[in-house]
Amino acid sequence: MKTESPKIAIIGAGVSGLIAALNLEEHGYSPVIYEKTDRVGGRIKTTIFDGYQLDHGFQVLLDAYPMATKYLDYDSLELQKFLPGAQVFKDGTSVVIGDPLREPNLLFSTLFSGIGNSRDKWKILKLNKSLKNKSIEEIFGQPETSTIEYLNGIGFSKDIINSFLKPFFSGIFLEPNLETSSRMFQFVYKMLGMGQAAIPKAGIETIPIQLKNRLQSTTFKFNTTVKSCRNGELLFSDDTKVFPDYTIIASEAPLIMPNLKTQQIAWHSCDTLYFTSPKKAIKNPMIGLIANDQALINHLFYHTSLQCLQKGDNELLSVTVVKKHDLTEYQLIQKVKEELKQFAGIEVDRYLKNYRIKKAIPITKDLRYAMTPTETRLTDRIFLAGDYLLNGSLNAAMISGETAAKGVMEVISMG
Ligand SMILES: Cc1cc2nc3c(=O)[nH]c(=O)nc-3n(C[C@H](O)[C@H](O)[C@H](O)COP(=O)(O)OP(=O)(O)OC[C@H]3O[C@@H](n4cnc5c(N)ncnc54)[C@H](O)[C@@H]3O)c2cc1C
Repeated sequence: MKTESPKIAIIGAGVSGLIAALNLEEHGYSPVIYEKTDRVGGRIKTTIFDGYQLDHGFQVLLDAYPMATKYLDYDSLELQKFLPGAQVFKDGTSVVIGDPLREPNLLFSTLFSGIGNSRDKWKILKLNKSLKNKSIEEIFGQPETSTIEYLNGIGFSKDIINSFLKPFFSGIFLEPNLETSSRMFQFVYKMLGMGQAAIPKAGIETIPIQLKNRLQSTTFKFNTTVKSCRNGELLFSDDTKVFPDYTIIASEAPLIMPNLKTQQIAWHSCDTLYFTSPKKAIKNPMIGLIANDQALINHLFYHTSLQCLQKGDNELLSVTVVKKHDLTEYQLIQKVKEELKQFAGIEVDRYLKNYRIKKAIPITKDLRYAMTPTETRLTDRIFLAGDYLLNGSLNAAMISGETAAKGVMEVISMG
């Protein structure tokens, strides 16, 4: 521990704030985290509802994320892994399409799925190979276009785009038109090719809880909202103030920094509805896609196809909607139930919950993988972290937290 340790504040106990704290602790500092809610994790949250384990929004960890391998202990997370593929519901039937190179069981179903043509399958194999050989730096160093333009440019058929690639990646980007940067598409595709999607056995929130449990000398001030950050002074919602030496804003900085007010962040939203169901329409742990342009539902997943720590009596199904809509909650539930029946032949027996997440994934232009410590520095005392600075992913949240902590320590070391 340093003799006269500077006072370092972190605003926000999401993944980026927790990683910033971990890095500061490793160098002997004892930061204070101010968090407006009563818990860590930010956008990563799991609730037990009536015996069922519900993540707030369907989200997965890609176990090949370089930052996740660096910071997380996968064994104690008890990661439950998805099969590399999807069950596509189309025209009243369903087919399984996947990566037969990694999951040989999917070879026949993929070849004979009737989705895409033989040139598409060839192009997929070629894309796998080219992205395997491309470094992450190369991917993010390329000019960007939208994912949909990129896929059209490769020459994929309309069928494979509309029936598989579009719903699959819309579920990751949380937007229906694949306007997200081609850099993100290539990065996610590469990560999926190098590893698997997974959810911890006790739910996605186990990730930030594991990070919090590693912190020894960090102080948490929960239920503490920072109203503004002006010239290094933090003003809280109860009108008390503190004046730390350094502050890392690991939340939406434009909401609390007066001089950033014009740089509001735009967000993709989604709804994730949970139902119980007497049986599973998808046997294996893979997502279901609704390949119909008219459908409001984008994807579905039977959480009970993986091991869950808390298991209710029936199968647990989540359904995610990424298209914009103006339905009331009641109308949305009815619409989703109708579509489940119409497009996938699925009957649900009980509606549990809907998580409407207005600020799910930040919309970022000139999407980046990383930044330098100096770039996180807004003023001599204020540093920024958060996925919105790079791209909407756990990996980016971790990089931003690590880099902001380095930024602070660089300035401290300069005296
Ligand atoms: C539905 C959904 C699906 C997703 N799917 C995936 C996925 O499959 N894979 C993936 O890698 N990523 C996914 N993500 C993205 C991932 O969850 C985020 O990138 C990551 O959690 C962002 O962490 P963060 O620390 O940057 O921000 P946040 O988690 O938003 O943390 C910010 C924290 O700051 C607090 N805060 C805000 N304002 C204040 C204030 N004024 N004072 C005090 N505290 C404040 C908040 O309460 C919060 O705890 C998904 C996100 C959502 C919502």
